[in-house]
Amino acid sequence: METTLKPHKETVGTMVCIIISGPSLNEAREQVKKASLKADLLEFRLDQFGFSQIEAIAHLKETTTLPVIFTLRSRSHGGEYKGDEQQRLEEIKKILVLEPDYIDLEYDVALSFYPEVKRISPETKLISSLHDFAHTPKDLQSVLDMMKKDYISLYKIAVMANSCLDSMRMLRFIRDNAKKGLKLGCVCIGEQGIMTRILGPKFGNSLAFSVLHKDLVVAPGQLAIDELMGRYHLRTIGNETAILGLIGDPVSKSPSHYTHNYVINDLGLNAVYVKISVQPQELHEFIDYAKKLNFLGLSVTMPLKKAVVSLVTEESPDSGIGAFNTLRLNQKKVEGANTDGIGALNAIEEFGLVEGKRVIILGAGGAARAIAWEAKKRGAEVVILNRTVENAAALAGSLDCKYGSLNEFSAYALQGYDILVNSTSVGLFSEKTRLPIDASNMLEEKVVLDVIPGKEETPFLQEAKNKHCTIINGNTMLMLQAVEQFYFWFSNTISREELKKSFNEAFKTIRE
Ligand code: NDP
Repeated sequence: METTLKPHKETVGTMVCIIISGPSLNEAREQVKKASLKADLLEFRLDQFGFSQIEAIAHLKETTTLPVIFTLRSRSHGGEYKGDEQQRLEEIKKILVLEPDYIDLEYDVALSFYPEVKRISPETKLISSLHDFAHTPKDLQSVLDMMKKDYISLYKIAVMANSCLDSMRMLRFIRDNAKKGLKLGCVCIGEQGIMTRILGPKFGNSLAFSVLHKDLVVAPGQLAIDELMGRYHLRTIGNETAILGLIGDPVSKSPSHYTHNYVINDLGLNAVYVKISVQPQELHEFIDYAKKLNFLGLSVTMPLKKAVVSLVTEESPDSGIGAFNTLRLNQKKVEGANTDGIGALNAIEEFGLVEGKRVIILGAGGAARAIAWEAKKRGAEVVILNRTVENAAALAGSLDCKYGSLNEFSAYALQGYDILVNSTSVGLFSEKTRLPIDASNMLEEKVVLDVIPGKEETPFLQEAKNKHCTIINGNTMLMLQAVEQFYFWFSNTISREELKKSFNEAFKTIRE
């Protein structure tokens, strides 16, 4: 095993560093043993250790053949070391006799200390670090320029992301400086920073920090090694890796980081999928960054589906829907598609074509619009029923179909229908309103879809089942619309059949 970081241009991949935090010697020893099987190097967080005897640290270092970083972080820099600066530097001098491969020193450590380090352990490489647990500095470049010294081997900047834009700025900063040949281990911390931990290798980060498991997290947003290597397959992320993601707010409940990365792994695609919380007022700037950073594809969810329309630069056959749930980007253009309706109709048509059939759609929001649009396109007769009749009228007007109030369901049911779709959000949140209609009026043995994702059987579908209907849940629709999204992003390389098979497996694993 190499004991030094190679220059960036020769680096095959990012070096994965697992943080060892103890706090007891036994715990630290166990962590070192396990981490040595998974990492490229280890960071001993000596300030987190409950022991400081040089013999114990020497023993720990001998437990691994991997290169080791020593860090004794003061409280003022977010660490746990309790003594004053003078005592800290004396401690560091003592442990330097163990000749660690790296020593992490805060950017503002006394300049006179560097020659001391070289005198005691000439081969130890210097990492200059800066932490900010409150925000990401506006001008990261000036921060780095301030930290730069000839004898520094690697720069670590770990700063709090308060929005997705902080993380996008960090990724651009990593890209620009890695290109110049600098070695970096830079991340945004916090929930909003998670994407920088996953995508850093794509943009040239030399180091990625991780922990053995969630209980050992020392900075917010840190991912456990199995999550980073397994779900996000960090080892394979590089310059050529396509970035895919989900944007919207909230995105925390979406299972797409499981399912989509499962498919990526299963089909051997050189891509990674991340969830990004984007507020409407950040959308424009976010897309600008995404283009410049070569993101390939985005799934779009609430509340951004309509807002993205104005950012799409190319003609789309789905423009008439007035909302996109899928974007494909490059440096110059943004293409839009809407796969919600296709997903719903593909799910329904597994039980027979809709051409010439009567479809009643409950709801007149974004999902209803996409489904109604696609159903009309496939030759169905569509009826829109909604709580607010004006909204139903507006949607029906643009599609030239019948409309009414949810209260009129029984009258429309009496006229007959073949397919019933609940596309209201009733059932998504609390169960105060269980059903959008009086279920006693549902017809027997029809095809019934409820778009609410996440549940195998909503109250709406339970009622339909009682009427011996064929039921389709929102997860099936979600899965089939995701198939279409991947097909849109990777149309030249992968078939719908392969995608569907893989997504089926992916959704099965999250059910288990
Ligand atoms: P919108 O906010 O655009 O529309 C919500 C619809 O629900 C409106 O028609 C609204 O009626 C109706 N509604 C809300 N509350 C009630 C209520 N208490 N009683 C009766 N009607 C009500 O949302 P979307 O169309 O974007 O999303 C709707 C649902 O579809 C969500 O649950 C979403 O998760 C799901 N969805 C599922 C997808 C999948 O792949 N499975 C894909 C996309 C969406 P009104 O006009 O009167 O306000």
